Amino acid sequence: MQQAELGDDGRTGQDGKGEDPTVVRLEKMASDLLEKEDALFCPSGTMANIVTVLSFAKKGELVALDPKSHIFSSETSIFSSDLFGRKAVLIETDKEGVPDLASLERLFAQQDIKLLCLENTSGYYGGNCLTVSQTDEICMLAARYQIPVHIDGARLWNAAASLHCEVSDLVRNADTVMFCLSKGLGAPVGSLLCGSKERIRAARELRKAIGGTMRQAGVLAAAGIAALENVNILSEDHEKVKWFVQLLKPHPLFDVQSYSHPTNMVYVRMTDRERTPKEVADDLKHQGLLGKAVSPDRLRLVFHKDISWVQVEQAANILNTYLQD
Ligand SMILES: *Cc1c(COP(=O)(O)O)cnc(C)c1O
Repeated sequence: MQQAELGDDGRTGQDGKGEDPTVVRLEKMASDLLEKEDALFCPSGTMANIVTVLSFAKKGELVALDPKSHIFSSETSIFSSDLFGRKAVLIETDKEGVPDLASLERLFAQQDIKLLCLENTSGYYGGNCLTVSQTDEICMLAARYQIPVHIDGARLWNAAASLHCEVSDLVRNADTVMFCLSKGLGAPVGSLLCGSKERIRAARELRKAIGGTMRQAGVLAAAGIAALENVNILSEDHEKVKWFVQLLKPHPLFDVQSYSHPTNMVYVRMTDRERTPKEVADDLKHQGLLGKAVSPDRLRLVFHKDISWVQVEQAANILNTYLQD
């Protein structure tokens, strides 16, 4: 970051790219890795998703997505009538967040959907992955109805690590993909949007319109480049999850949910009527273990590169001791 060569990323040259060489390098790296034509560096994943949706659907037009997805549940400016005013059409998924093909097809046949959004890995469904074949099937179906597909891949690299595949395979039939540098990859800031040249050009304009153009952003992009050079760190986080789960002692009121393709998250389901996950999370915080209540009966714990193996053991001890009381 200290040595990054900088420029004004907001001023674009004839090729449509910004003038910060480090940002340009990061964008090239991302588009090469995902095998898309071009990429755009954004200050956040939320902004990358917002500019994508705005570029595909006009005000009042329909965007299909899971009600539990980050885009629907957290990026509310997209669907707020006071702000961007796009209309959400909610899709059905199974317990692991995998969209149901038959109901998708009915939806596509009946409504004029401008964009379908998928999420991989899915934060609400235990960090479970959509596989290459699941993603392909959905994208092929959407293509038959000429509906573009955007993948919110905030944790896409976790999916690739868990499935032992290339990230490019996970997105080969999608039109656009967002991934975060700032989650498990460990960079302080930033996300990338990847897609066709034309799409990225439109997204760049929209990013400017909503104030996301940064000047010497190469300081941040340099950390992003370092993150992309070290994506292999993620499988260790998945190993930490497995070990943590092994260290937990069985308990009648709590169980760990299992998913077909787990990644760096543990979902503890609670059937304890006395204590809500929110209360449990507050208690655990006092003991040094940070988790998040994600639904009325589930607590989420996320593992990442700054949690050492010793701390994995400590975390399991804290939870085991707490549950005994
Ligand atoms: C974190 C996250 C985002 C948004 O990224 P920010 O950089 O926090 O704005 C979008 N989608 C999913 C699934 C996420 O987990």
